Amino acid sequence: MSQALRLPSPITNPENKAFWEAAQDNRLILKVCNSCNESHYYPRTICPHCGSDSTVWVESQGLGEIYSYTVMRRGVEVPFAMAYVRLNEGVSLLTHLTNCDFDSIQVGQKVKVVFQETQDGQKTHLFEPL
Ligand SMILES: [Zn+2]
Repeated sequence: MSQALRLPSPITNPENKAFWEAAQDNRLILKVCNSCNESHYYPRTICPHCGSDSTVWVESQGLGEIYSYTVMRRGVEVPFAMAYVRLNEGVSLLTHLTNCDFDSIQVGQKVKVVFQETQDGQKTHLFEPL
């Protein structure tokens, strides 16, 4: 059993307040643009694709696949794996991988979201293999 990773607390602001409130409820939500229908992450008021200010929150299925990853073992208290996960909704996010053997991680591996408390009790998203 590996030692639990101490996750840093996220910085919250008015633009991402709803995102972190949903995380506290074990839900991953994304912003989708009403003008161009593209979703984006991290959450912003203005769509990064077309500049529209008409964006809405939608619930993500929390499913995706590993696009790239790196495992940190040296010079850290607890080894950890970071990955870019491409969600089924089409957006990529930088995230920790958890509940997996770091030696068996593969690009293209299917993953799903899980939530873990950070240092101040705010939950954040991580991904684990399906
Ligand atoms: Zn847009």
